[in-house]
Amino acid sequence: MDHKKMHPESLMMSYGYKPELSEGSIKCPIFQTSTFVFKTAEEGKAFFEVAYGLREKDEHEELGLIYSRLNNPDLEILENRLCLWDGADDCAVFESGMSAISTVLMEFLQPGDLLLYSNPVYGGTDHFIKQVLTKFGIHVVGFKTGQSQEEIEQIIQDSGHGDRLAMIYVETPANPTNDLIDLRSCSNLARKYSHDDHKVLLTVDNTYMGPLWQHPLKHGADLVIYSATKYIGGHSDVIAGACLGSAGLMQRVKALRTFLGNMAGPWTGWLLMRSLETLKVRMEKQATNAAKIAEFLEGHPAIERIYYLGSLPADDERNQEIFQRQCTSAGAMLSFDVKGGEKEAFRFLNNLKLIRLAVSLGSTESLAQHPASMTHAGVDPELRQELGITDKLVRLSVGVEHSDDLIDDLKRALTAIS
Ligand SMILES: *Cc1c(COP(=O)(O)O)cnc(C)c1O
Repeated sequence: MDHKKMHPESLMMSYGYKPELSEGSIKCPIFQTSTFVFKTAEEGKAFFEVAYGLREKDEHEELGLIYSRLNNPDLEILENRLCLWDGADDCAVFESGMSAISTVLMEFLQPGDLLLYSNPVYGGTDHFIKQVLTKFGIHVVGFKTGQSQEEIEQIIQDSGHGDRLAMIYVETPANPTNDLIDLRSCSNLARKYSHDDHKVLLTVDNTYMGPLWQHPLKHGADLVIYSATKYIGGHSDVIAGACLGSAGLMQRVKALRTFLGNMAGPWTGWLLMRSLETLKVRMEKQATNAAKIAEFLEGHPAIERIYYLGSLPADDERNQEIFQRQCTSAGAMLSFDVKGGEKEAFRFLNNLKLIRLAVSLGSTESLAQHPASMTHAGVDPELRQELGITDKLVRLSVGVEHSDDLIDDLKRALTAIS
């Protein structure tokens, strides 16, 4: 089978798995084991030499199974399959999105280094950057969506640590307003601040659009991160994360993962493999539903404004251009301002029946929440206003239900506002 010629969705049921090694079982079993038996002492020695980097792998040699903190078939096969969507060399799966994020930041930043990050980022990431990295003497500075490359360079210069810029970390589209960040311009910036023995890395949290609708590695990113809890898992029943990139960078990520011990377990790996089989049909249905919902919300008398990539204002040339270049779909996340404030937004949320009032996103069931008092409650109130995360803003993650039922639910809850 030449997998290079096939689409990822055709390979999600089989790629990387050999039934003959598992009694002919069509599905990869759950390898619920902590350790693996070596055939001989020589084999065990050879496996460890490769695992600890004591020698290079021979051309056709695969890393042997040693111990489930280092490797486990449910994780390895899952990682191979995830690589197909993003066109990455290698992948590491983690026990949560936050463990993927924190491991990458810790591996590639040292005391004295500067981290440049986009605002807003996921609340947990924001906390880790501002409260944890700074404890270790890492300088951090943020920029906002919509700022030009010149403005961002000024921010780097003003930080006083431009010569130690080590990583640019971005989330696009930004949660919850769907503002876009230009990956090409971030990649240019990373290149500009790199020199011979010091490469500035561009890391992208692709949870909102990936792995289907945006492939940051093709736009100059070095590392891509996921909360696999969201679209990849897709059923609101598992917490997990993933990081993808080149072989060299991933070797470092995997080494730190081994020593932090924050890899996903075999059961999580198995659940995610099961989820990947339906990833594309789920995400496509979610995007189709989102488009229908956006059309319904547009112009509804109780709604002031909607934030959806499928209805960017025609005169917003900057975002139109980035969207065309970076994304292959408008996605299934949308936000909107209701007319009024927190009272109206809460009344709307409390009157939903089919759509559940919960944080998280990307799942089969539609979810609604109030960013200002929930996911973004920890963001500095002044910054929150600047970012458009006001009391009237509601975020929707659209699921796979029938669009008519979702629209009926929204219609009833919006009527309850007035
Ligand atoms: C949920 C989320 C995370 C954190 O992932 P967990 O799996 O909850 O640890 C990080 N980034 C984004 C964009 C998210 O939505």
